[in-house]
Amino acid sequence: MLRDIIVDSKAIDRSLSGEELSYNDGMELMNSENLFVVGATADLARKRLVGNKVTFAASYYMNYTNLCAASCQMCAFYRKGDESDAYTLSPEQIEARVAAAKSMGATEVHIVGGFHPSLQLDYYENMMKIIKKNHPEMTVKAFTAAEIFFLSKLTKTSVKEILSRLKSAGLDSMPGGGAELFHPEIRGQIVRGKCSGQEWLDTIEQAHNLGIKSNVTMLYGHIEKPEHIIDHLIKVRELQKKTGGFITFIPLKFSLDNTELEQKNLVNHESSAIYDLKIIAISRLMLAGVLNNISVYWVALGKKLAQVALSNGGSDLVGTAFSEEIYRAAGKPTNSSVMELATMVKEIGREPAQRNTFFETLRTF
Ligand code: SF4
Repeated sequence: MLRDIIVDSKAIDRSLSGEELSYNDGMELMNSENLFVVGATADLARKRLVGNKVTFAASYYMNYTNLCAASCQMCAFYRKGDESDAYTLSPEQIEARVAAAKSMGATEVHIVGGFHPSLQLDYYENMMKIIKKNHPEMTVKAFTAAEIFFLSKLTKTSVKEILSRLKSAGLDSMPGGGAELFHPEIRGQIVRGKCSGQEWLDTIEQAHNLGIKSNVTMLYGHIEKPEHIIDHLIKVRELQKKTGGFITFIPLKFSLDNTELEQKNLVNHESSAIYDLKIIAISRLMLAGVLNNISVYWVALGKKLAQVALSNGGSDLVGTAFSEEIYRAAGKPTNSSVMELATMVKEIGREPAQRNTFFETLRTF
């Protein structure tokens, strides 16, 4: 019976032979009811491409402002200027948080924020400079392509100029947020006031061309259809073939609480564990050989499901996520130490490795 299922699937057959999967292959996998076969194939691909190591970074997450000119339907984080819990961190507050991150053993700071309606480029440059002046060894991973695109419009400065100036000020790499889902049909229903999918891709391409590597994410588990997932994965794959600038692919499970999608009853439950695992597995299979780091964001999945996801194609746990206000706003617990993540990996018989932002191993356990 199992043999019949495998032989009957062109996509599985092609995956097992190491061939690149087409759009139709991807759709076949999305519509497959055989999670076990899809997951096992993804696990084999993972083993062939990256071995048994499971990586993670000691990361500190910081959100410099929750003020946002946009108002995305899938976001629980943004505030408007008249709300009492709106905040913006000063350069000194940011530096103090980086110092705290260093004392926790973080090797990278992950800095993102809302689209602040008035802060100019010098705020962001000063942020980079004050961090690098006081903590030159800290890797600064900051500002999504969506933030950079917004800043370009706000300041009437080209994306290239902004990225060049931020790089000179100390920007080392960029996070993968703001990608959501690129397809215009779905993007228009989950974001409001954010760049288009193509604008995100163009912005990150310019970053890669300037030597700034980045992650890339995909927000799933809301109102998308299978074709939006496959479209997104193929666009990531095509850009990666062109620039080689993506470090890792991070599927992000939509977190329901306190979002407009929940309040308007457009989504009334979060995605099932089966769907979460399928997304990880299909991400591995669609990107195989082109982008081989597939991250499991345990903050959104929970630690137990994250362990299962690592056996369905995942090979990285992202990081310790010290201080993560965005997911906390939507009711998710955060914070985990390096040792906890190493234990999670050992429990499933794999090899934990602490990495830096660029996936170089720093420590094994
Ligand atoms: S997702 Fe980002 S851009 Fe959209 S409202 Fe939230 S903080 Fe603003």
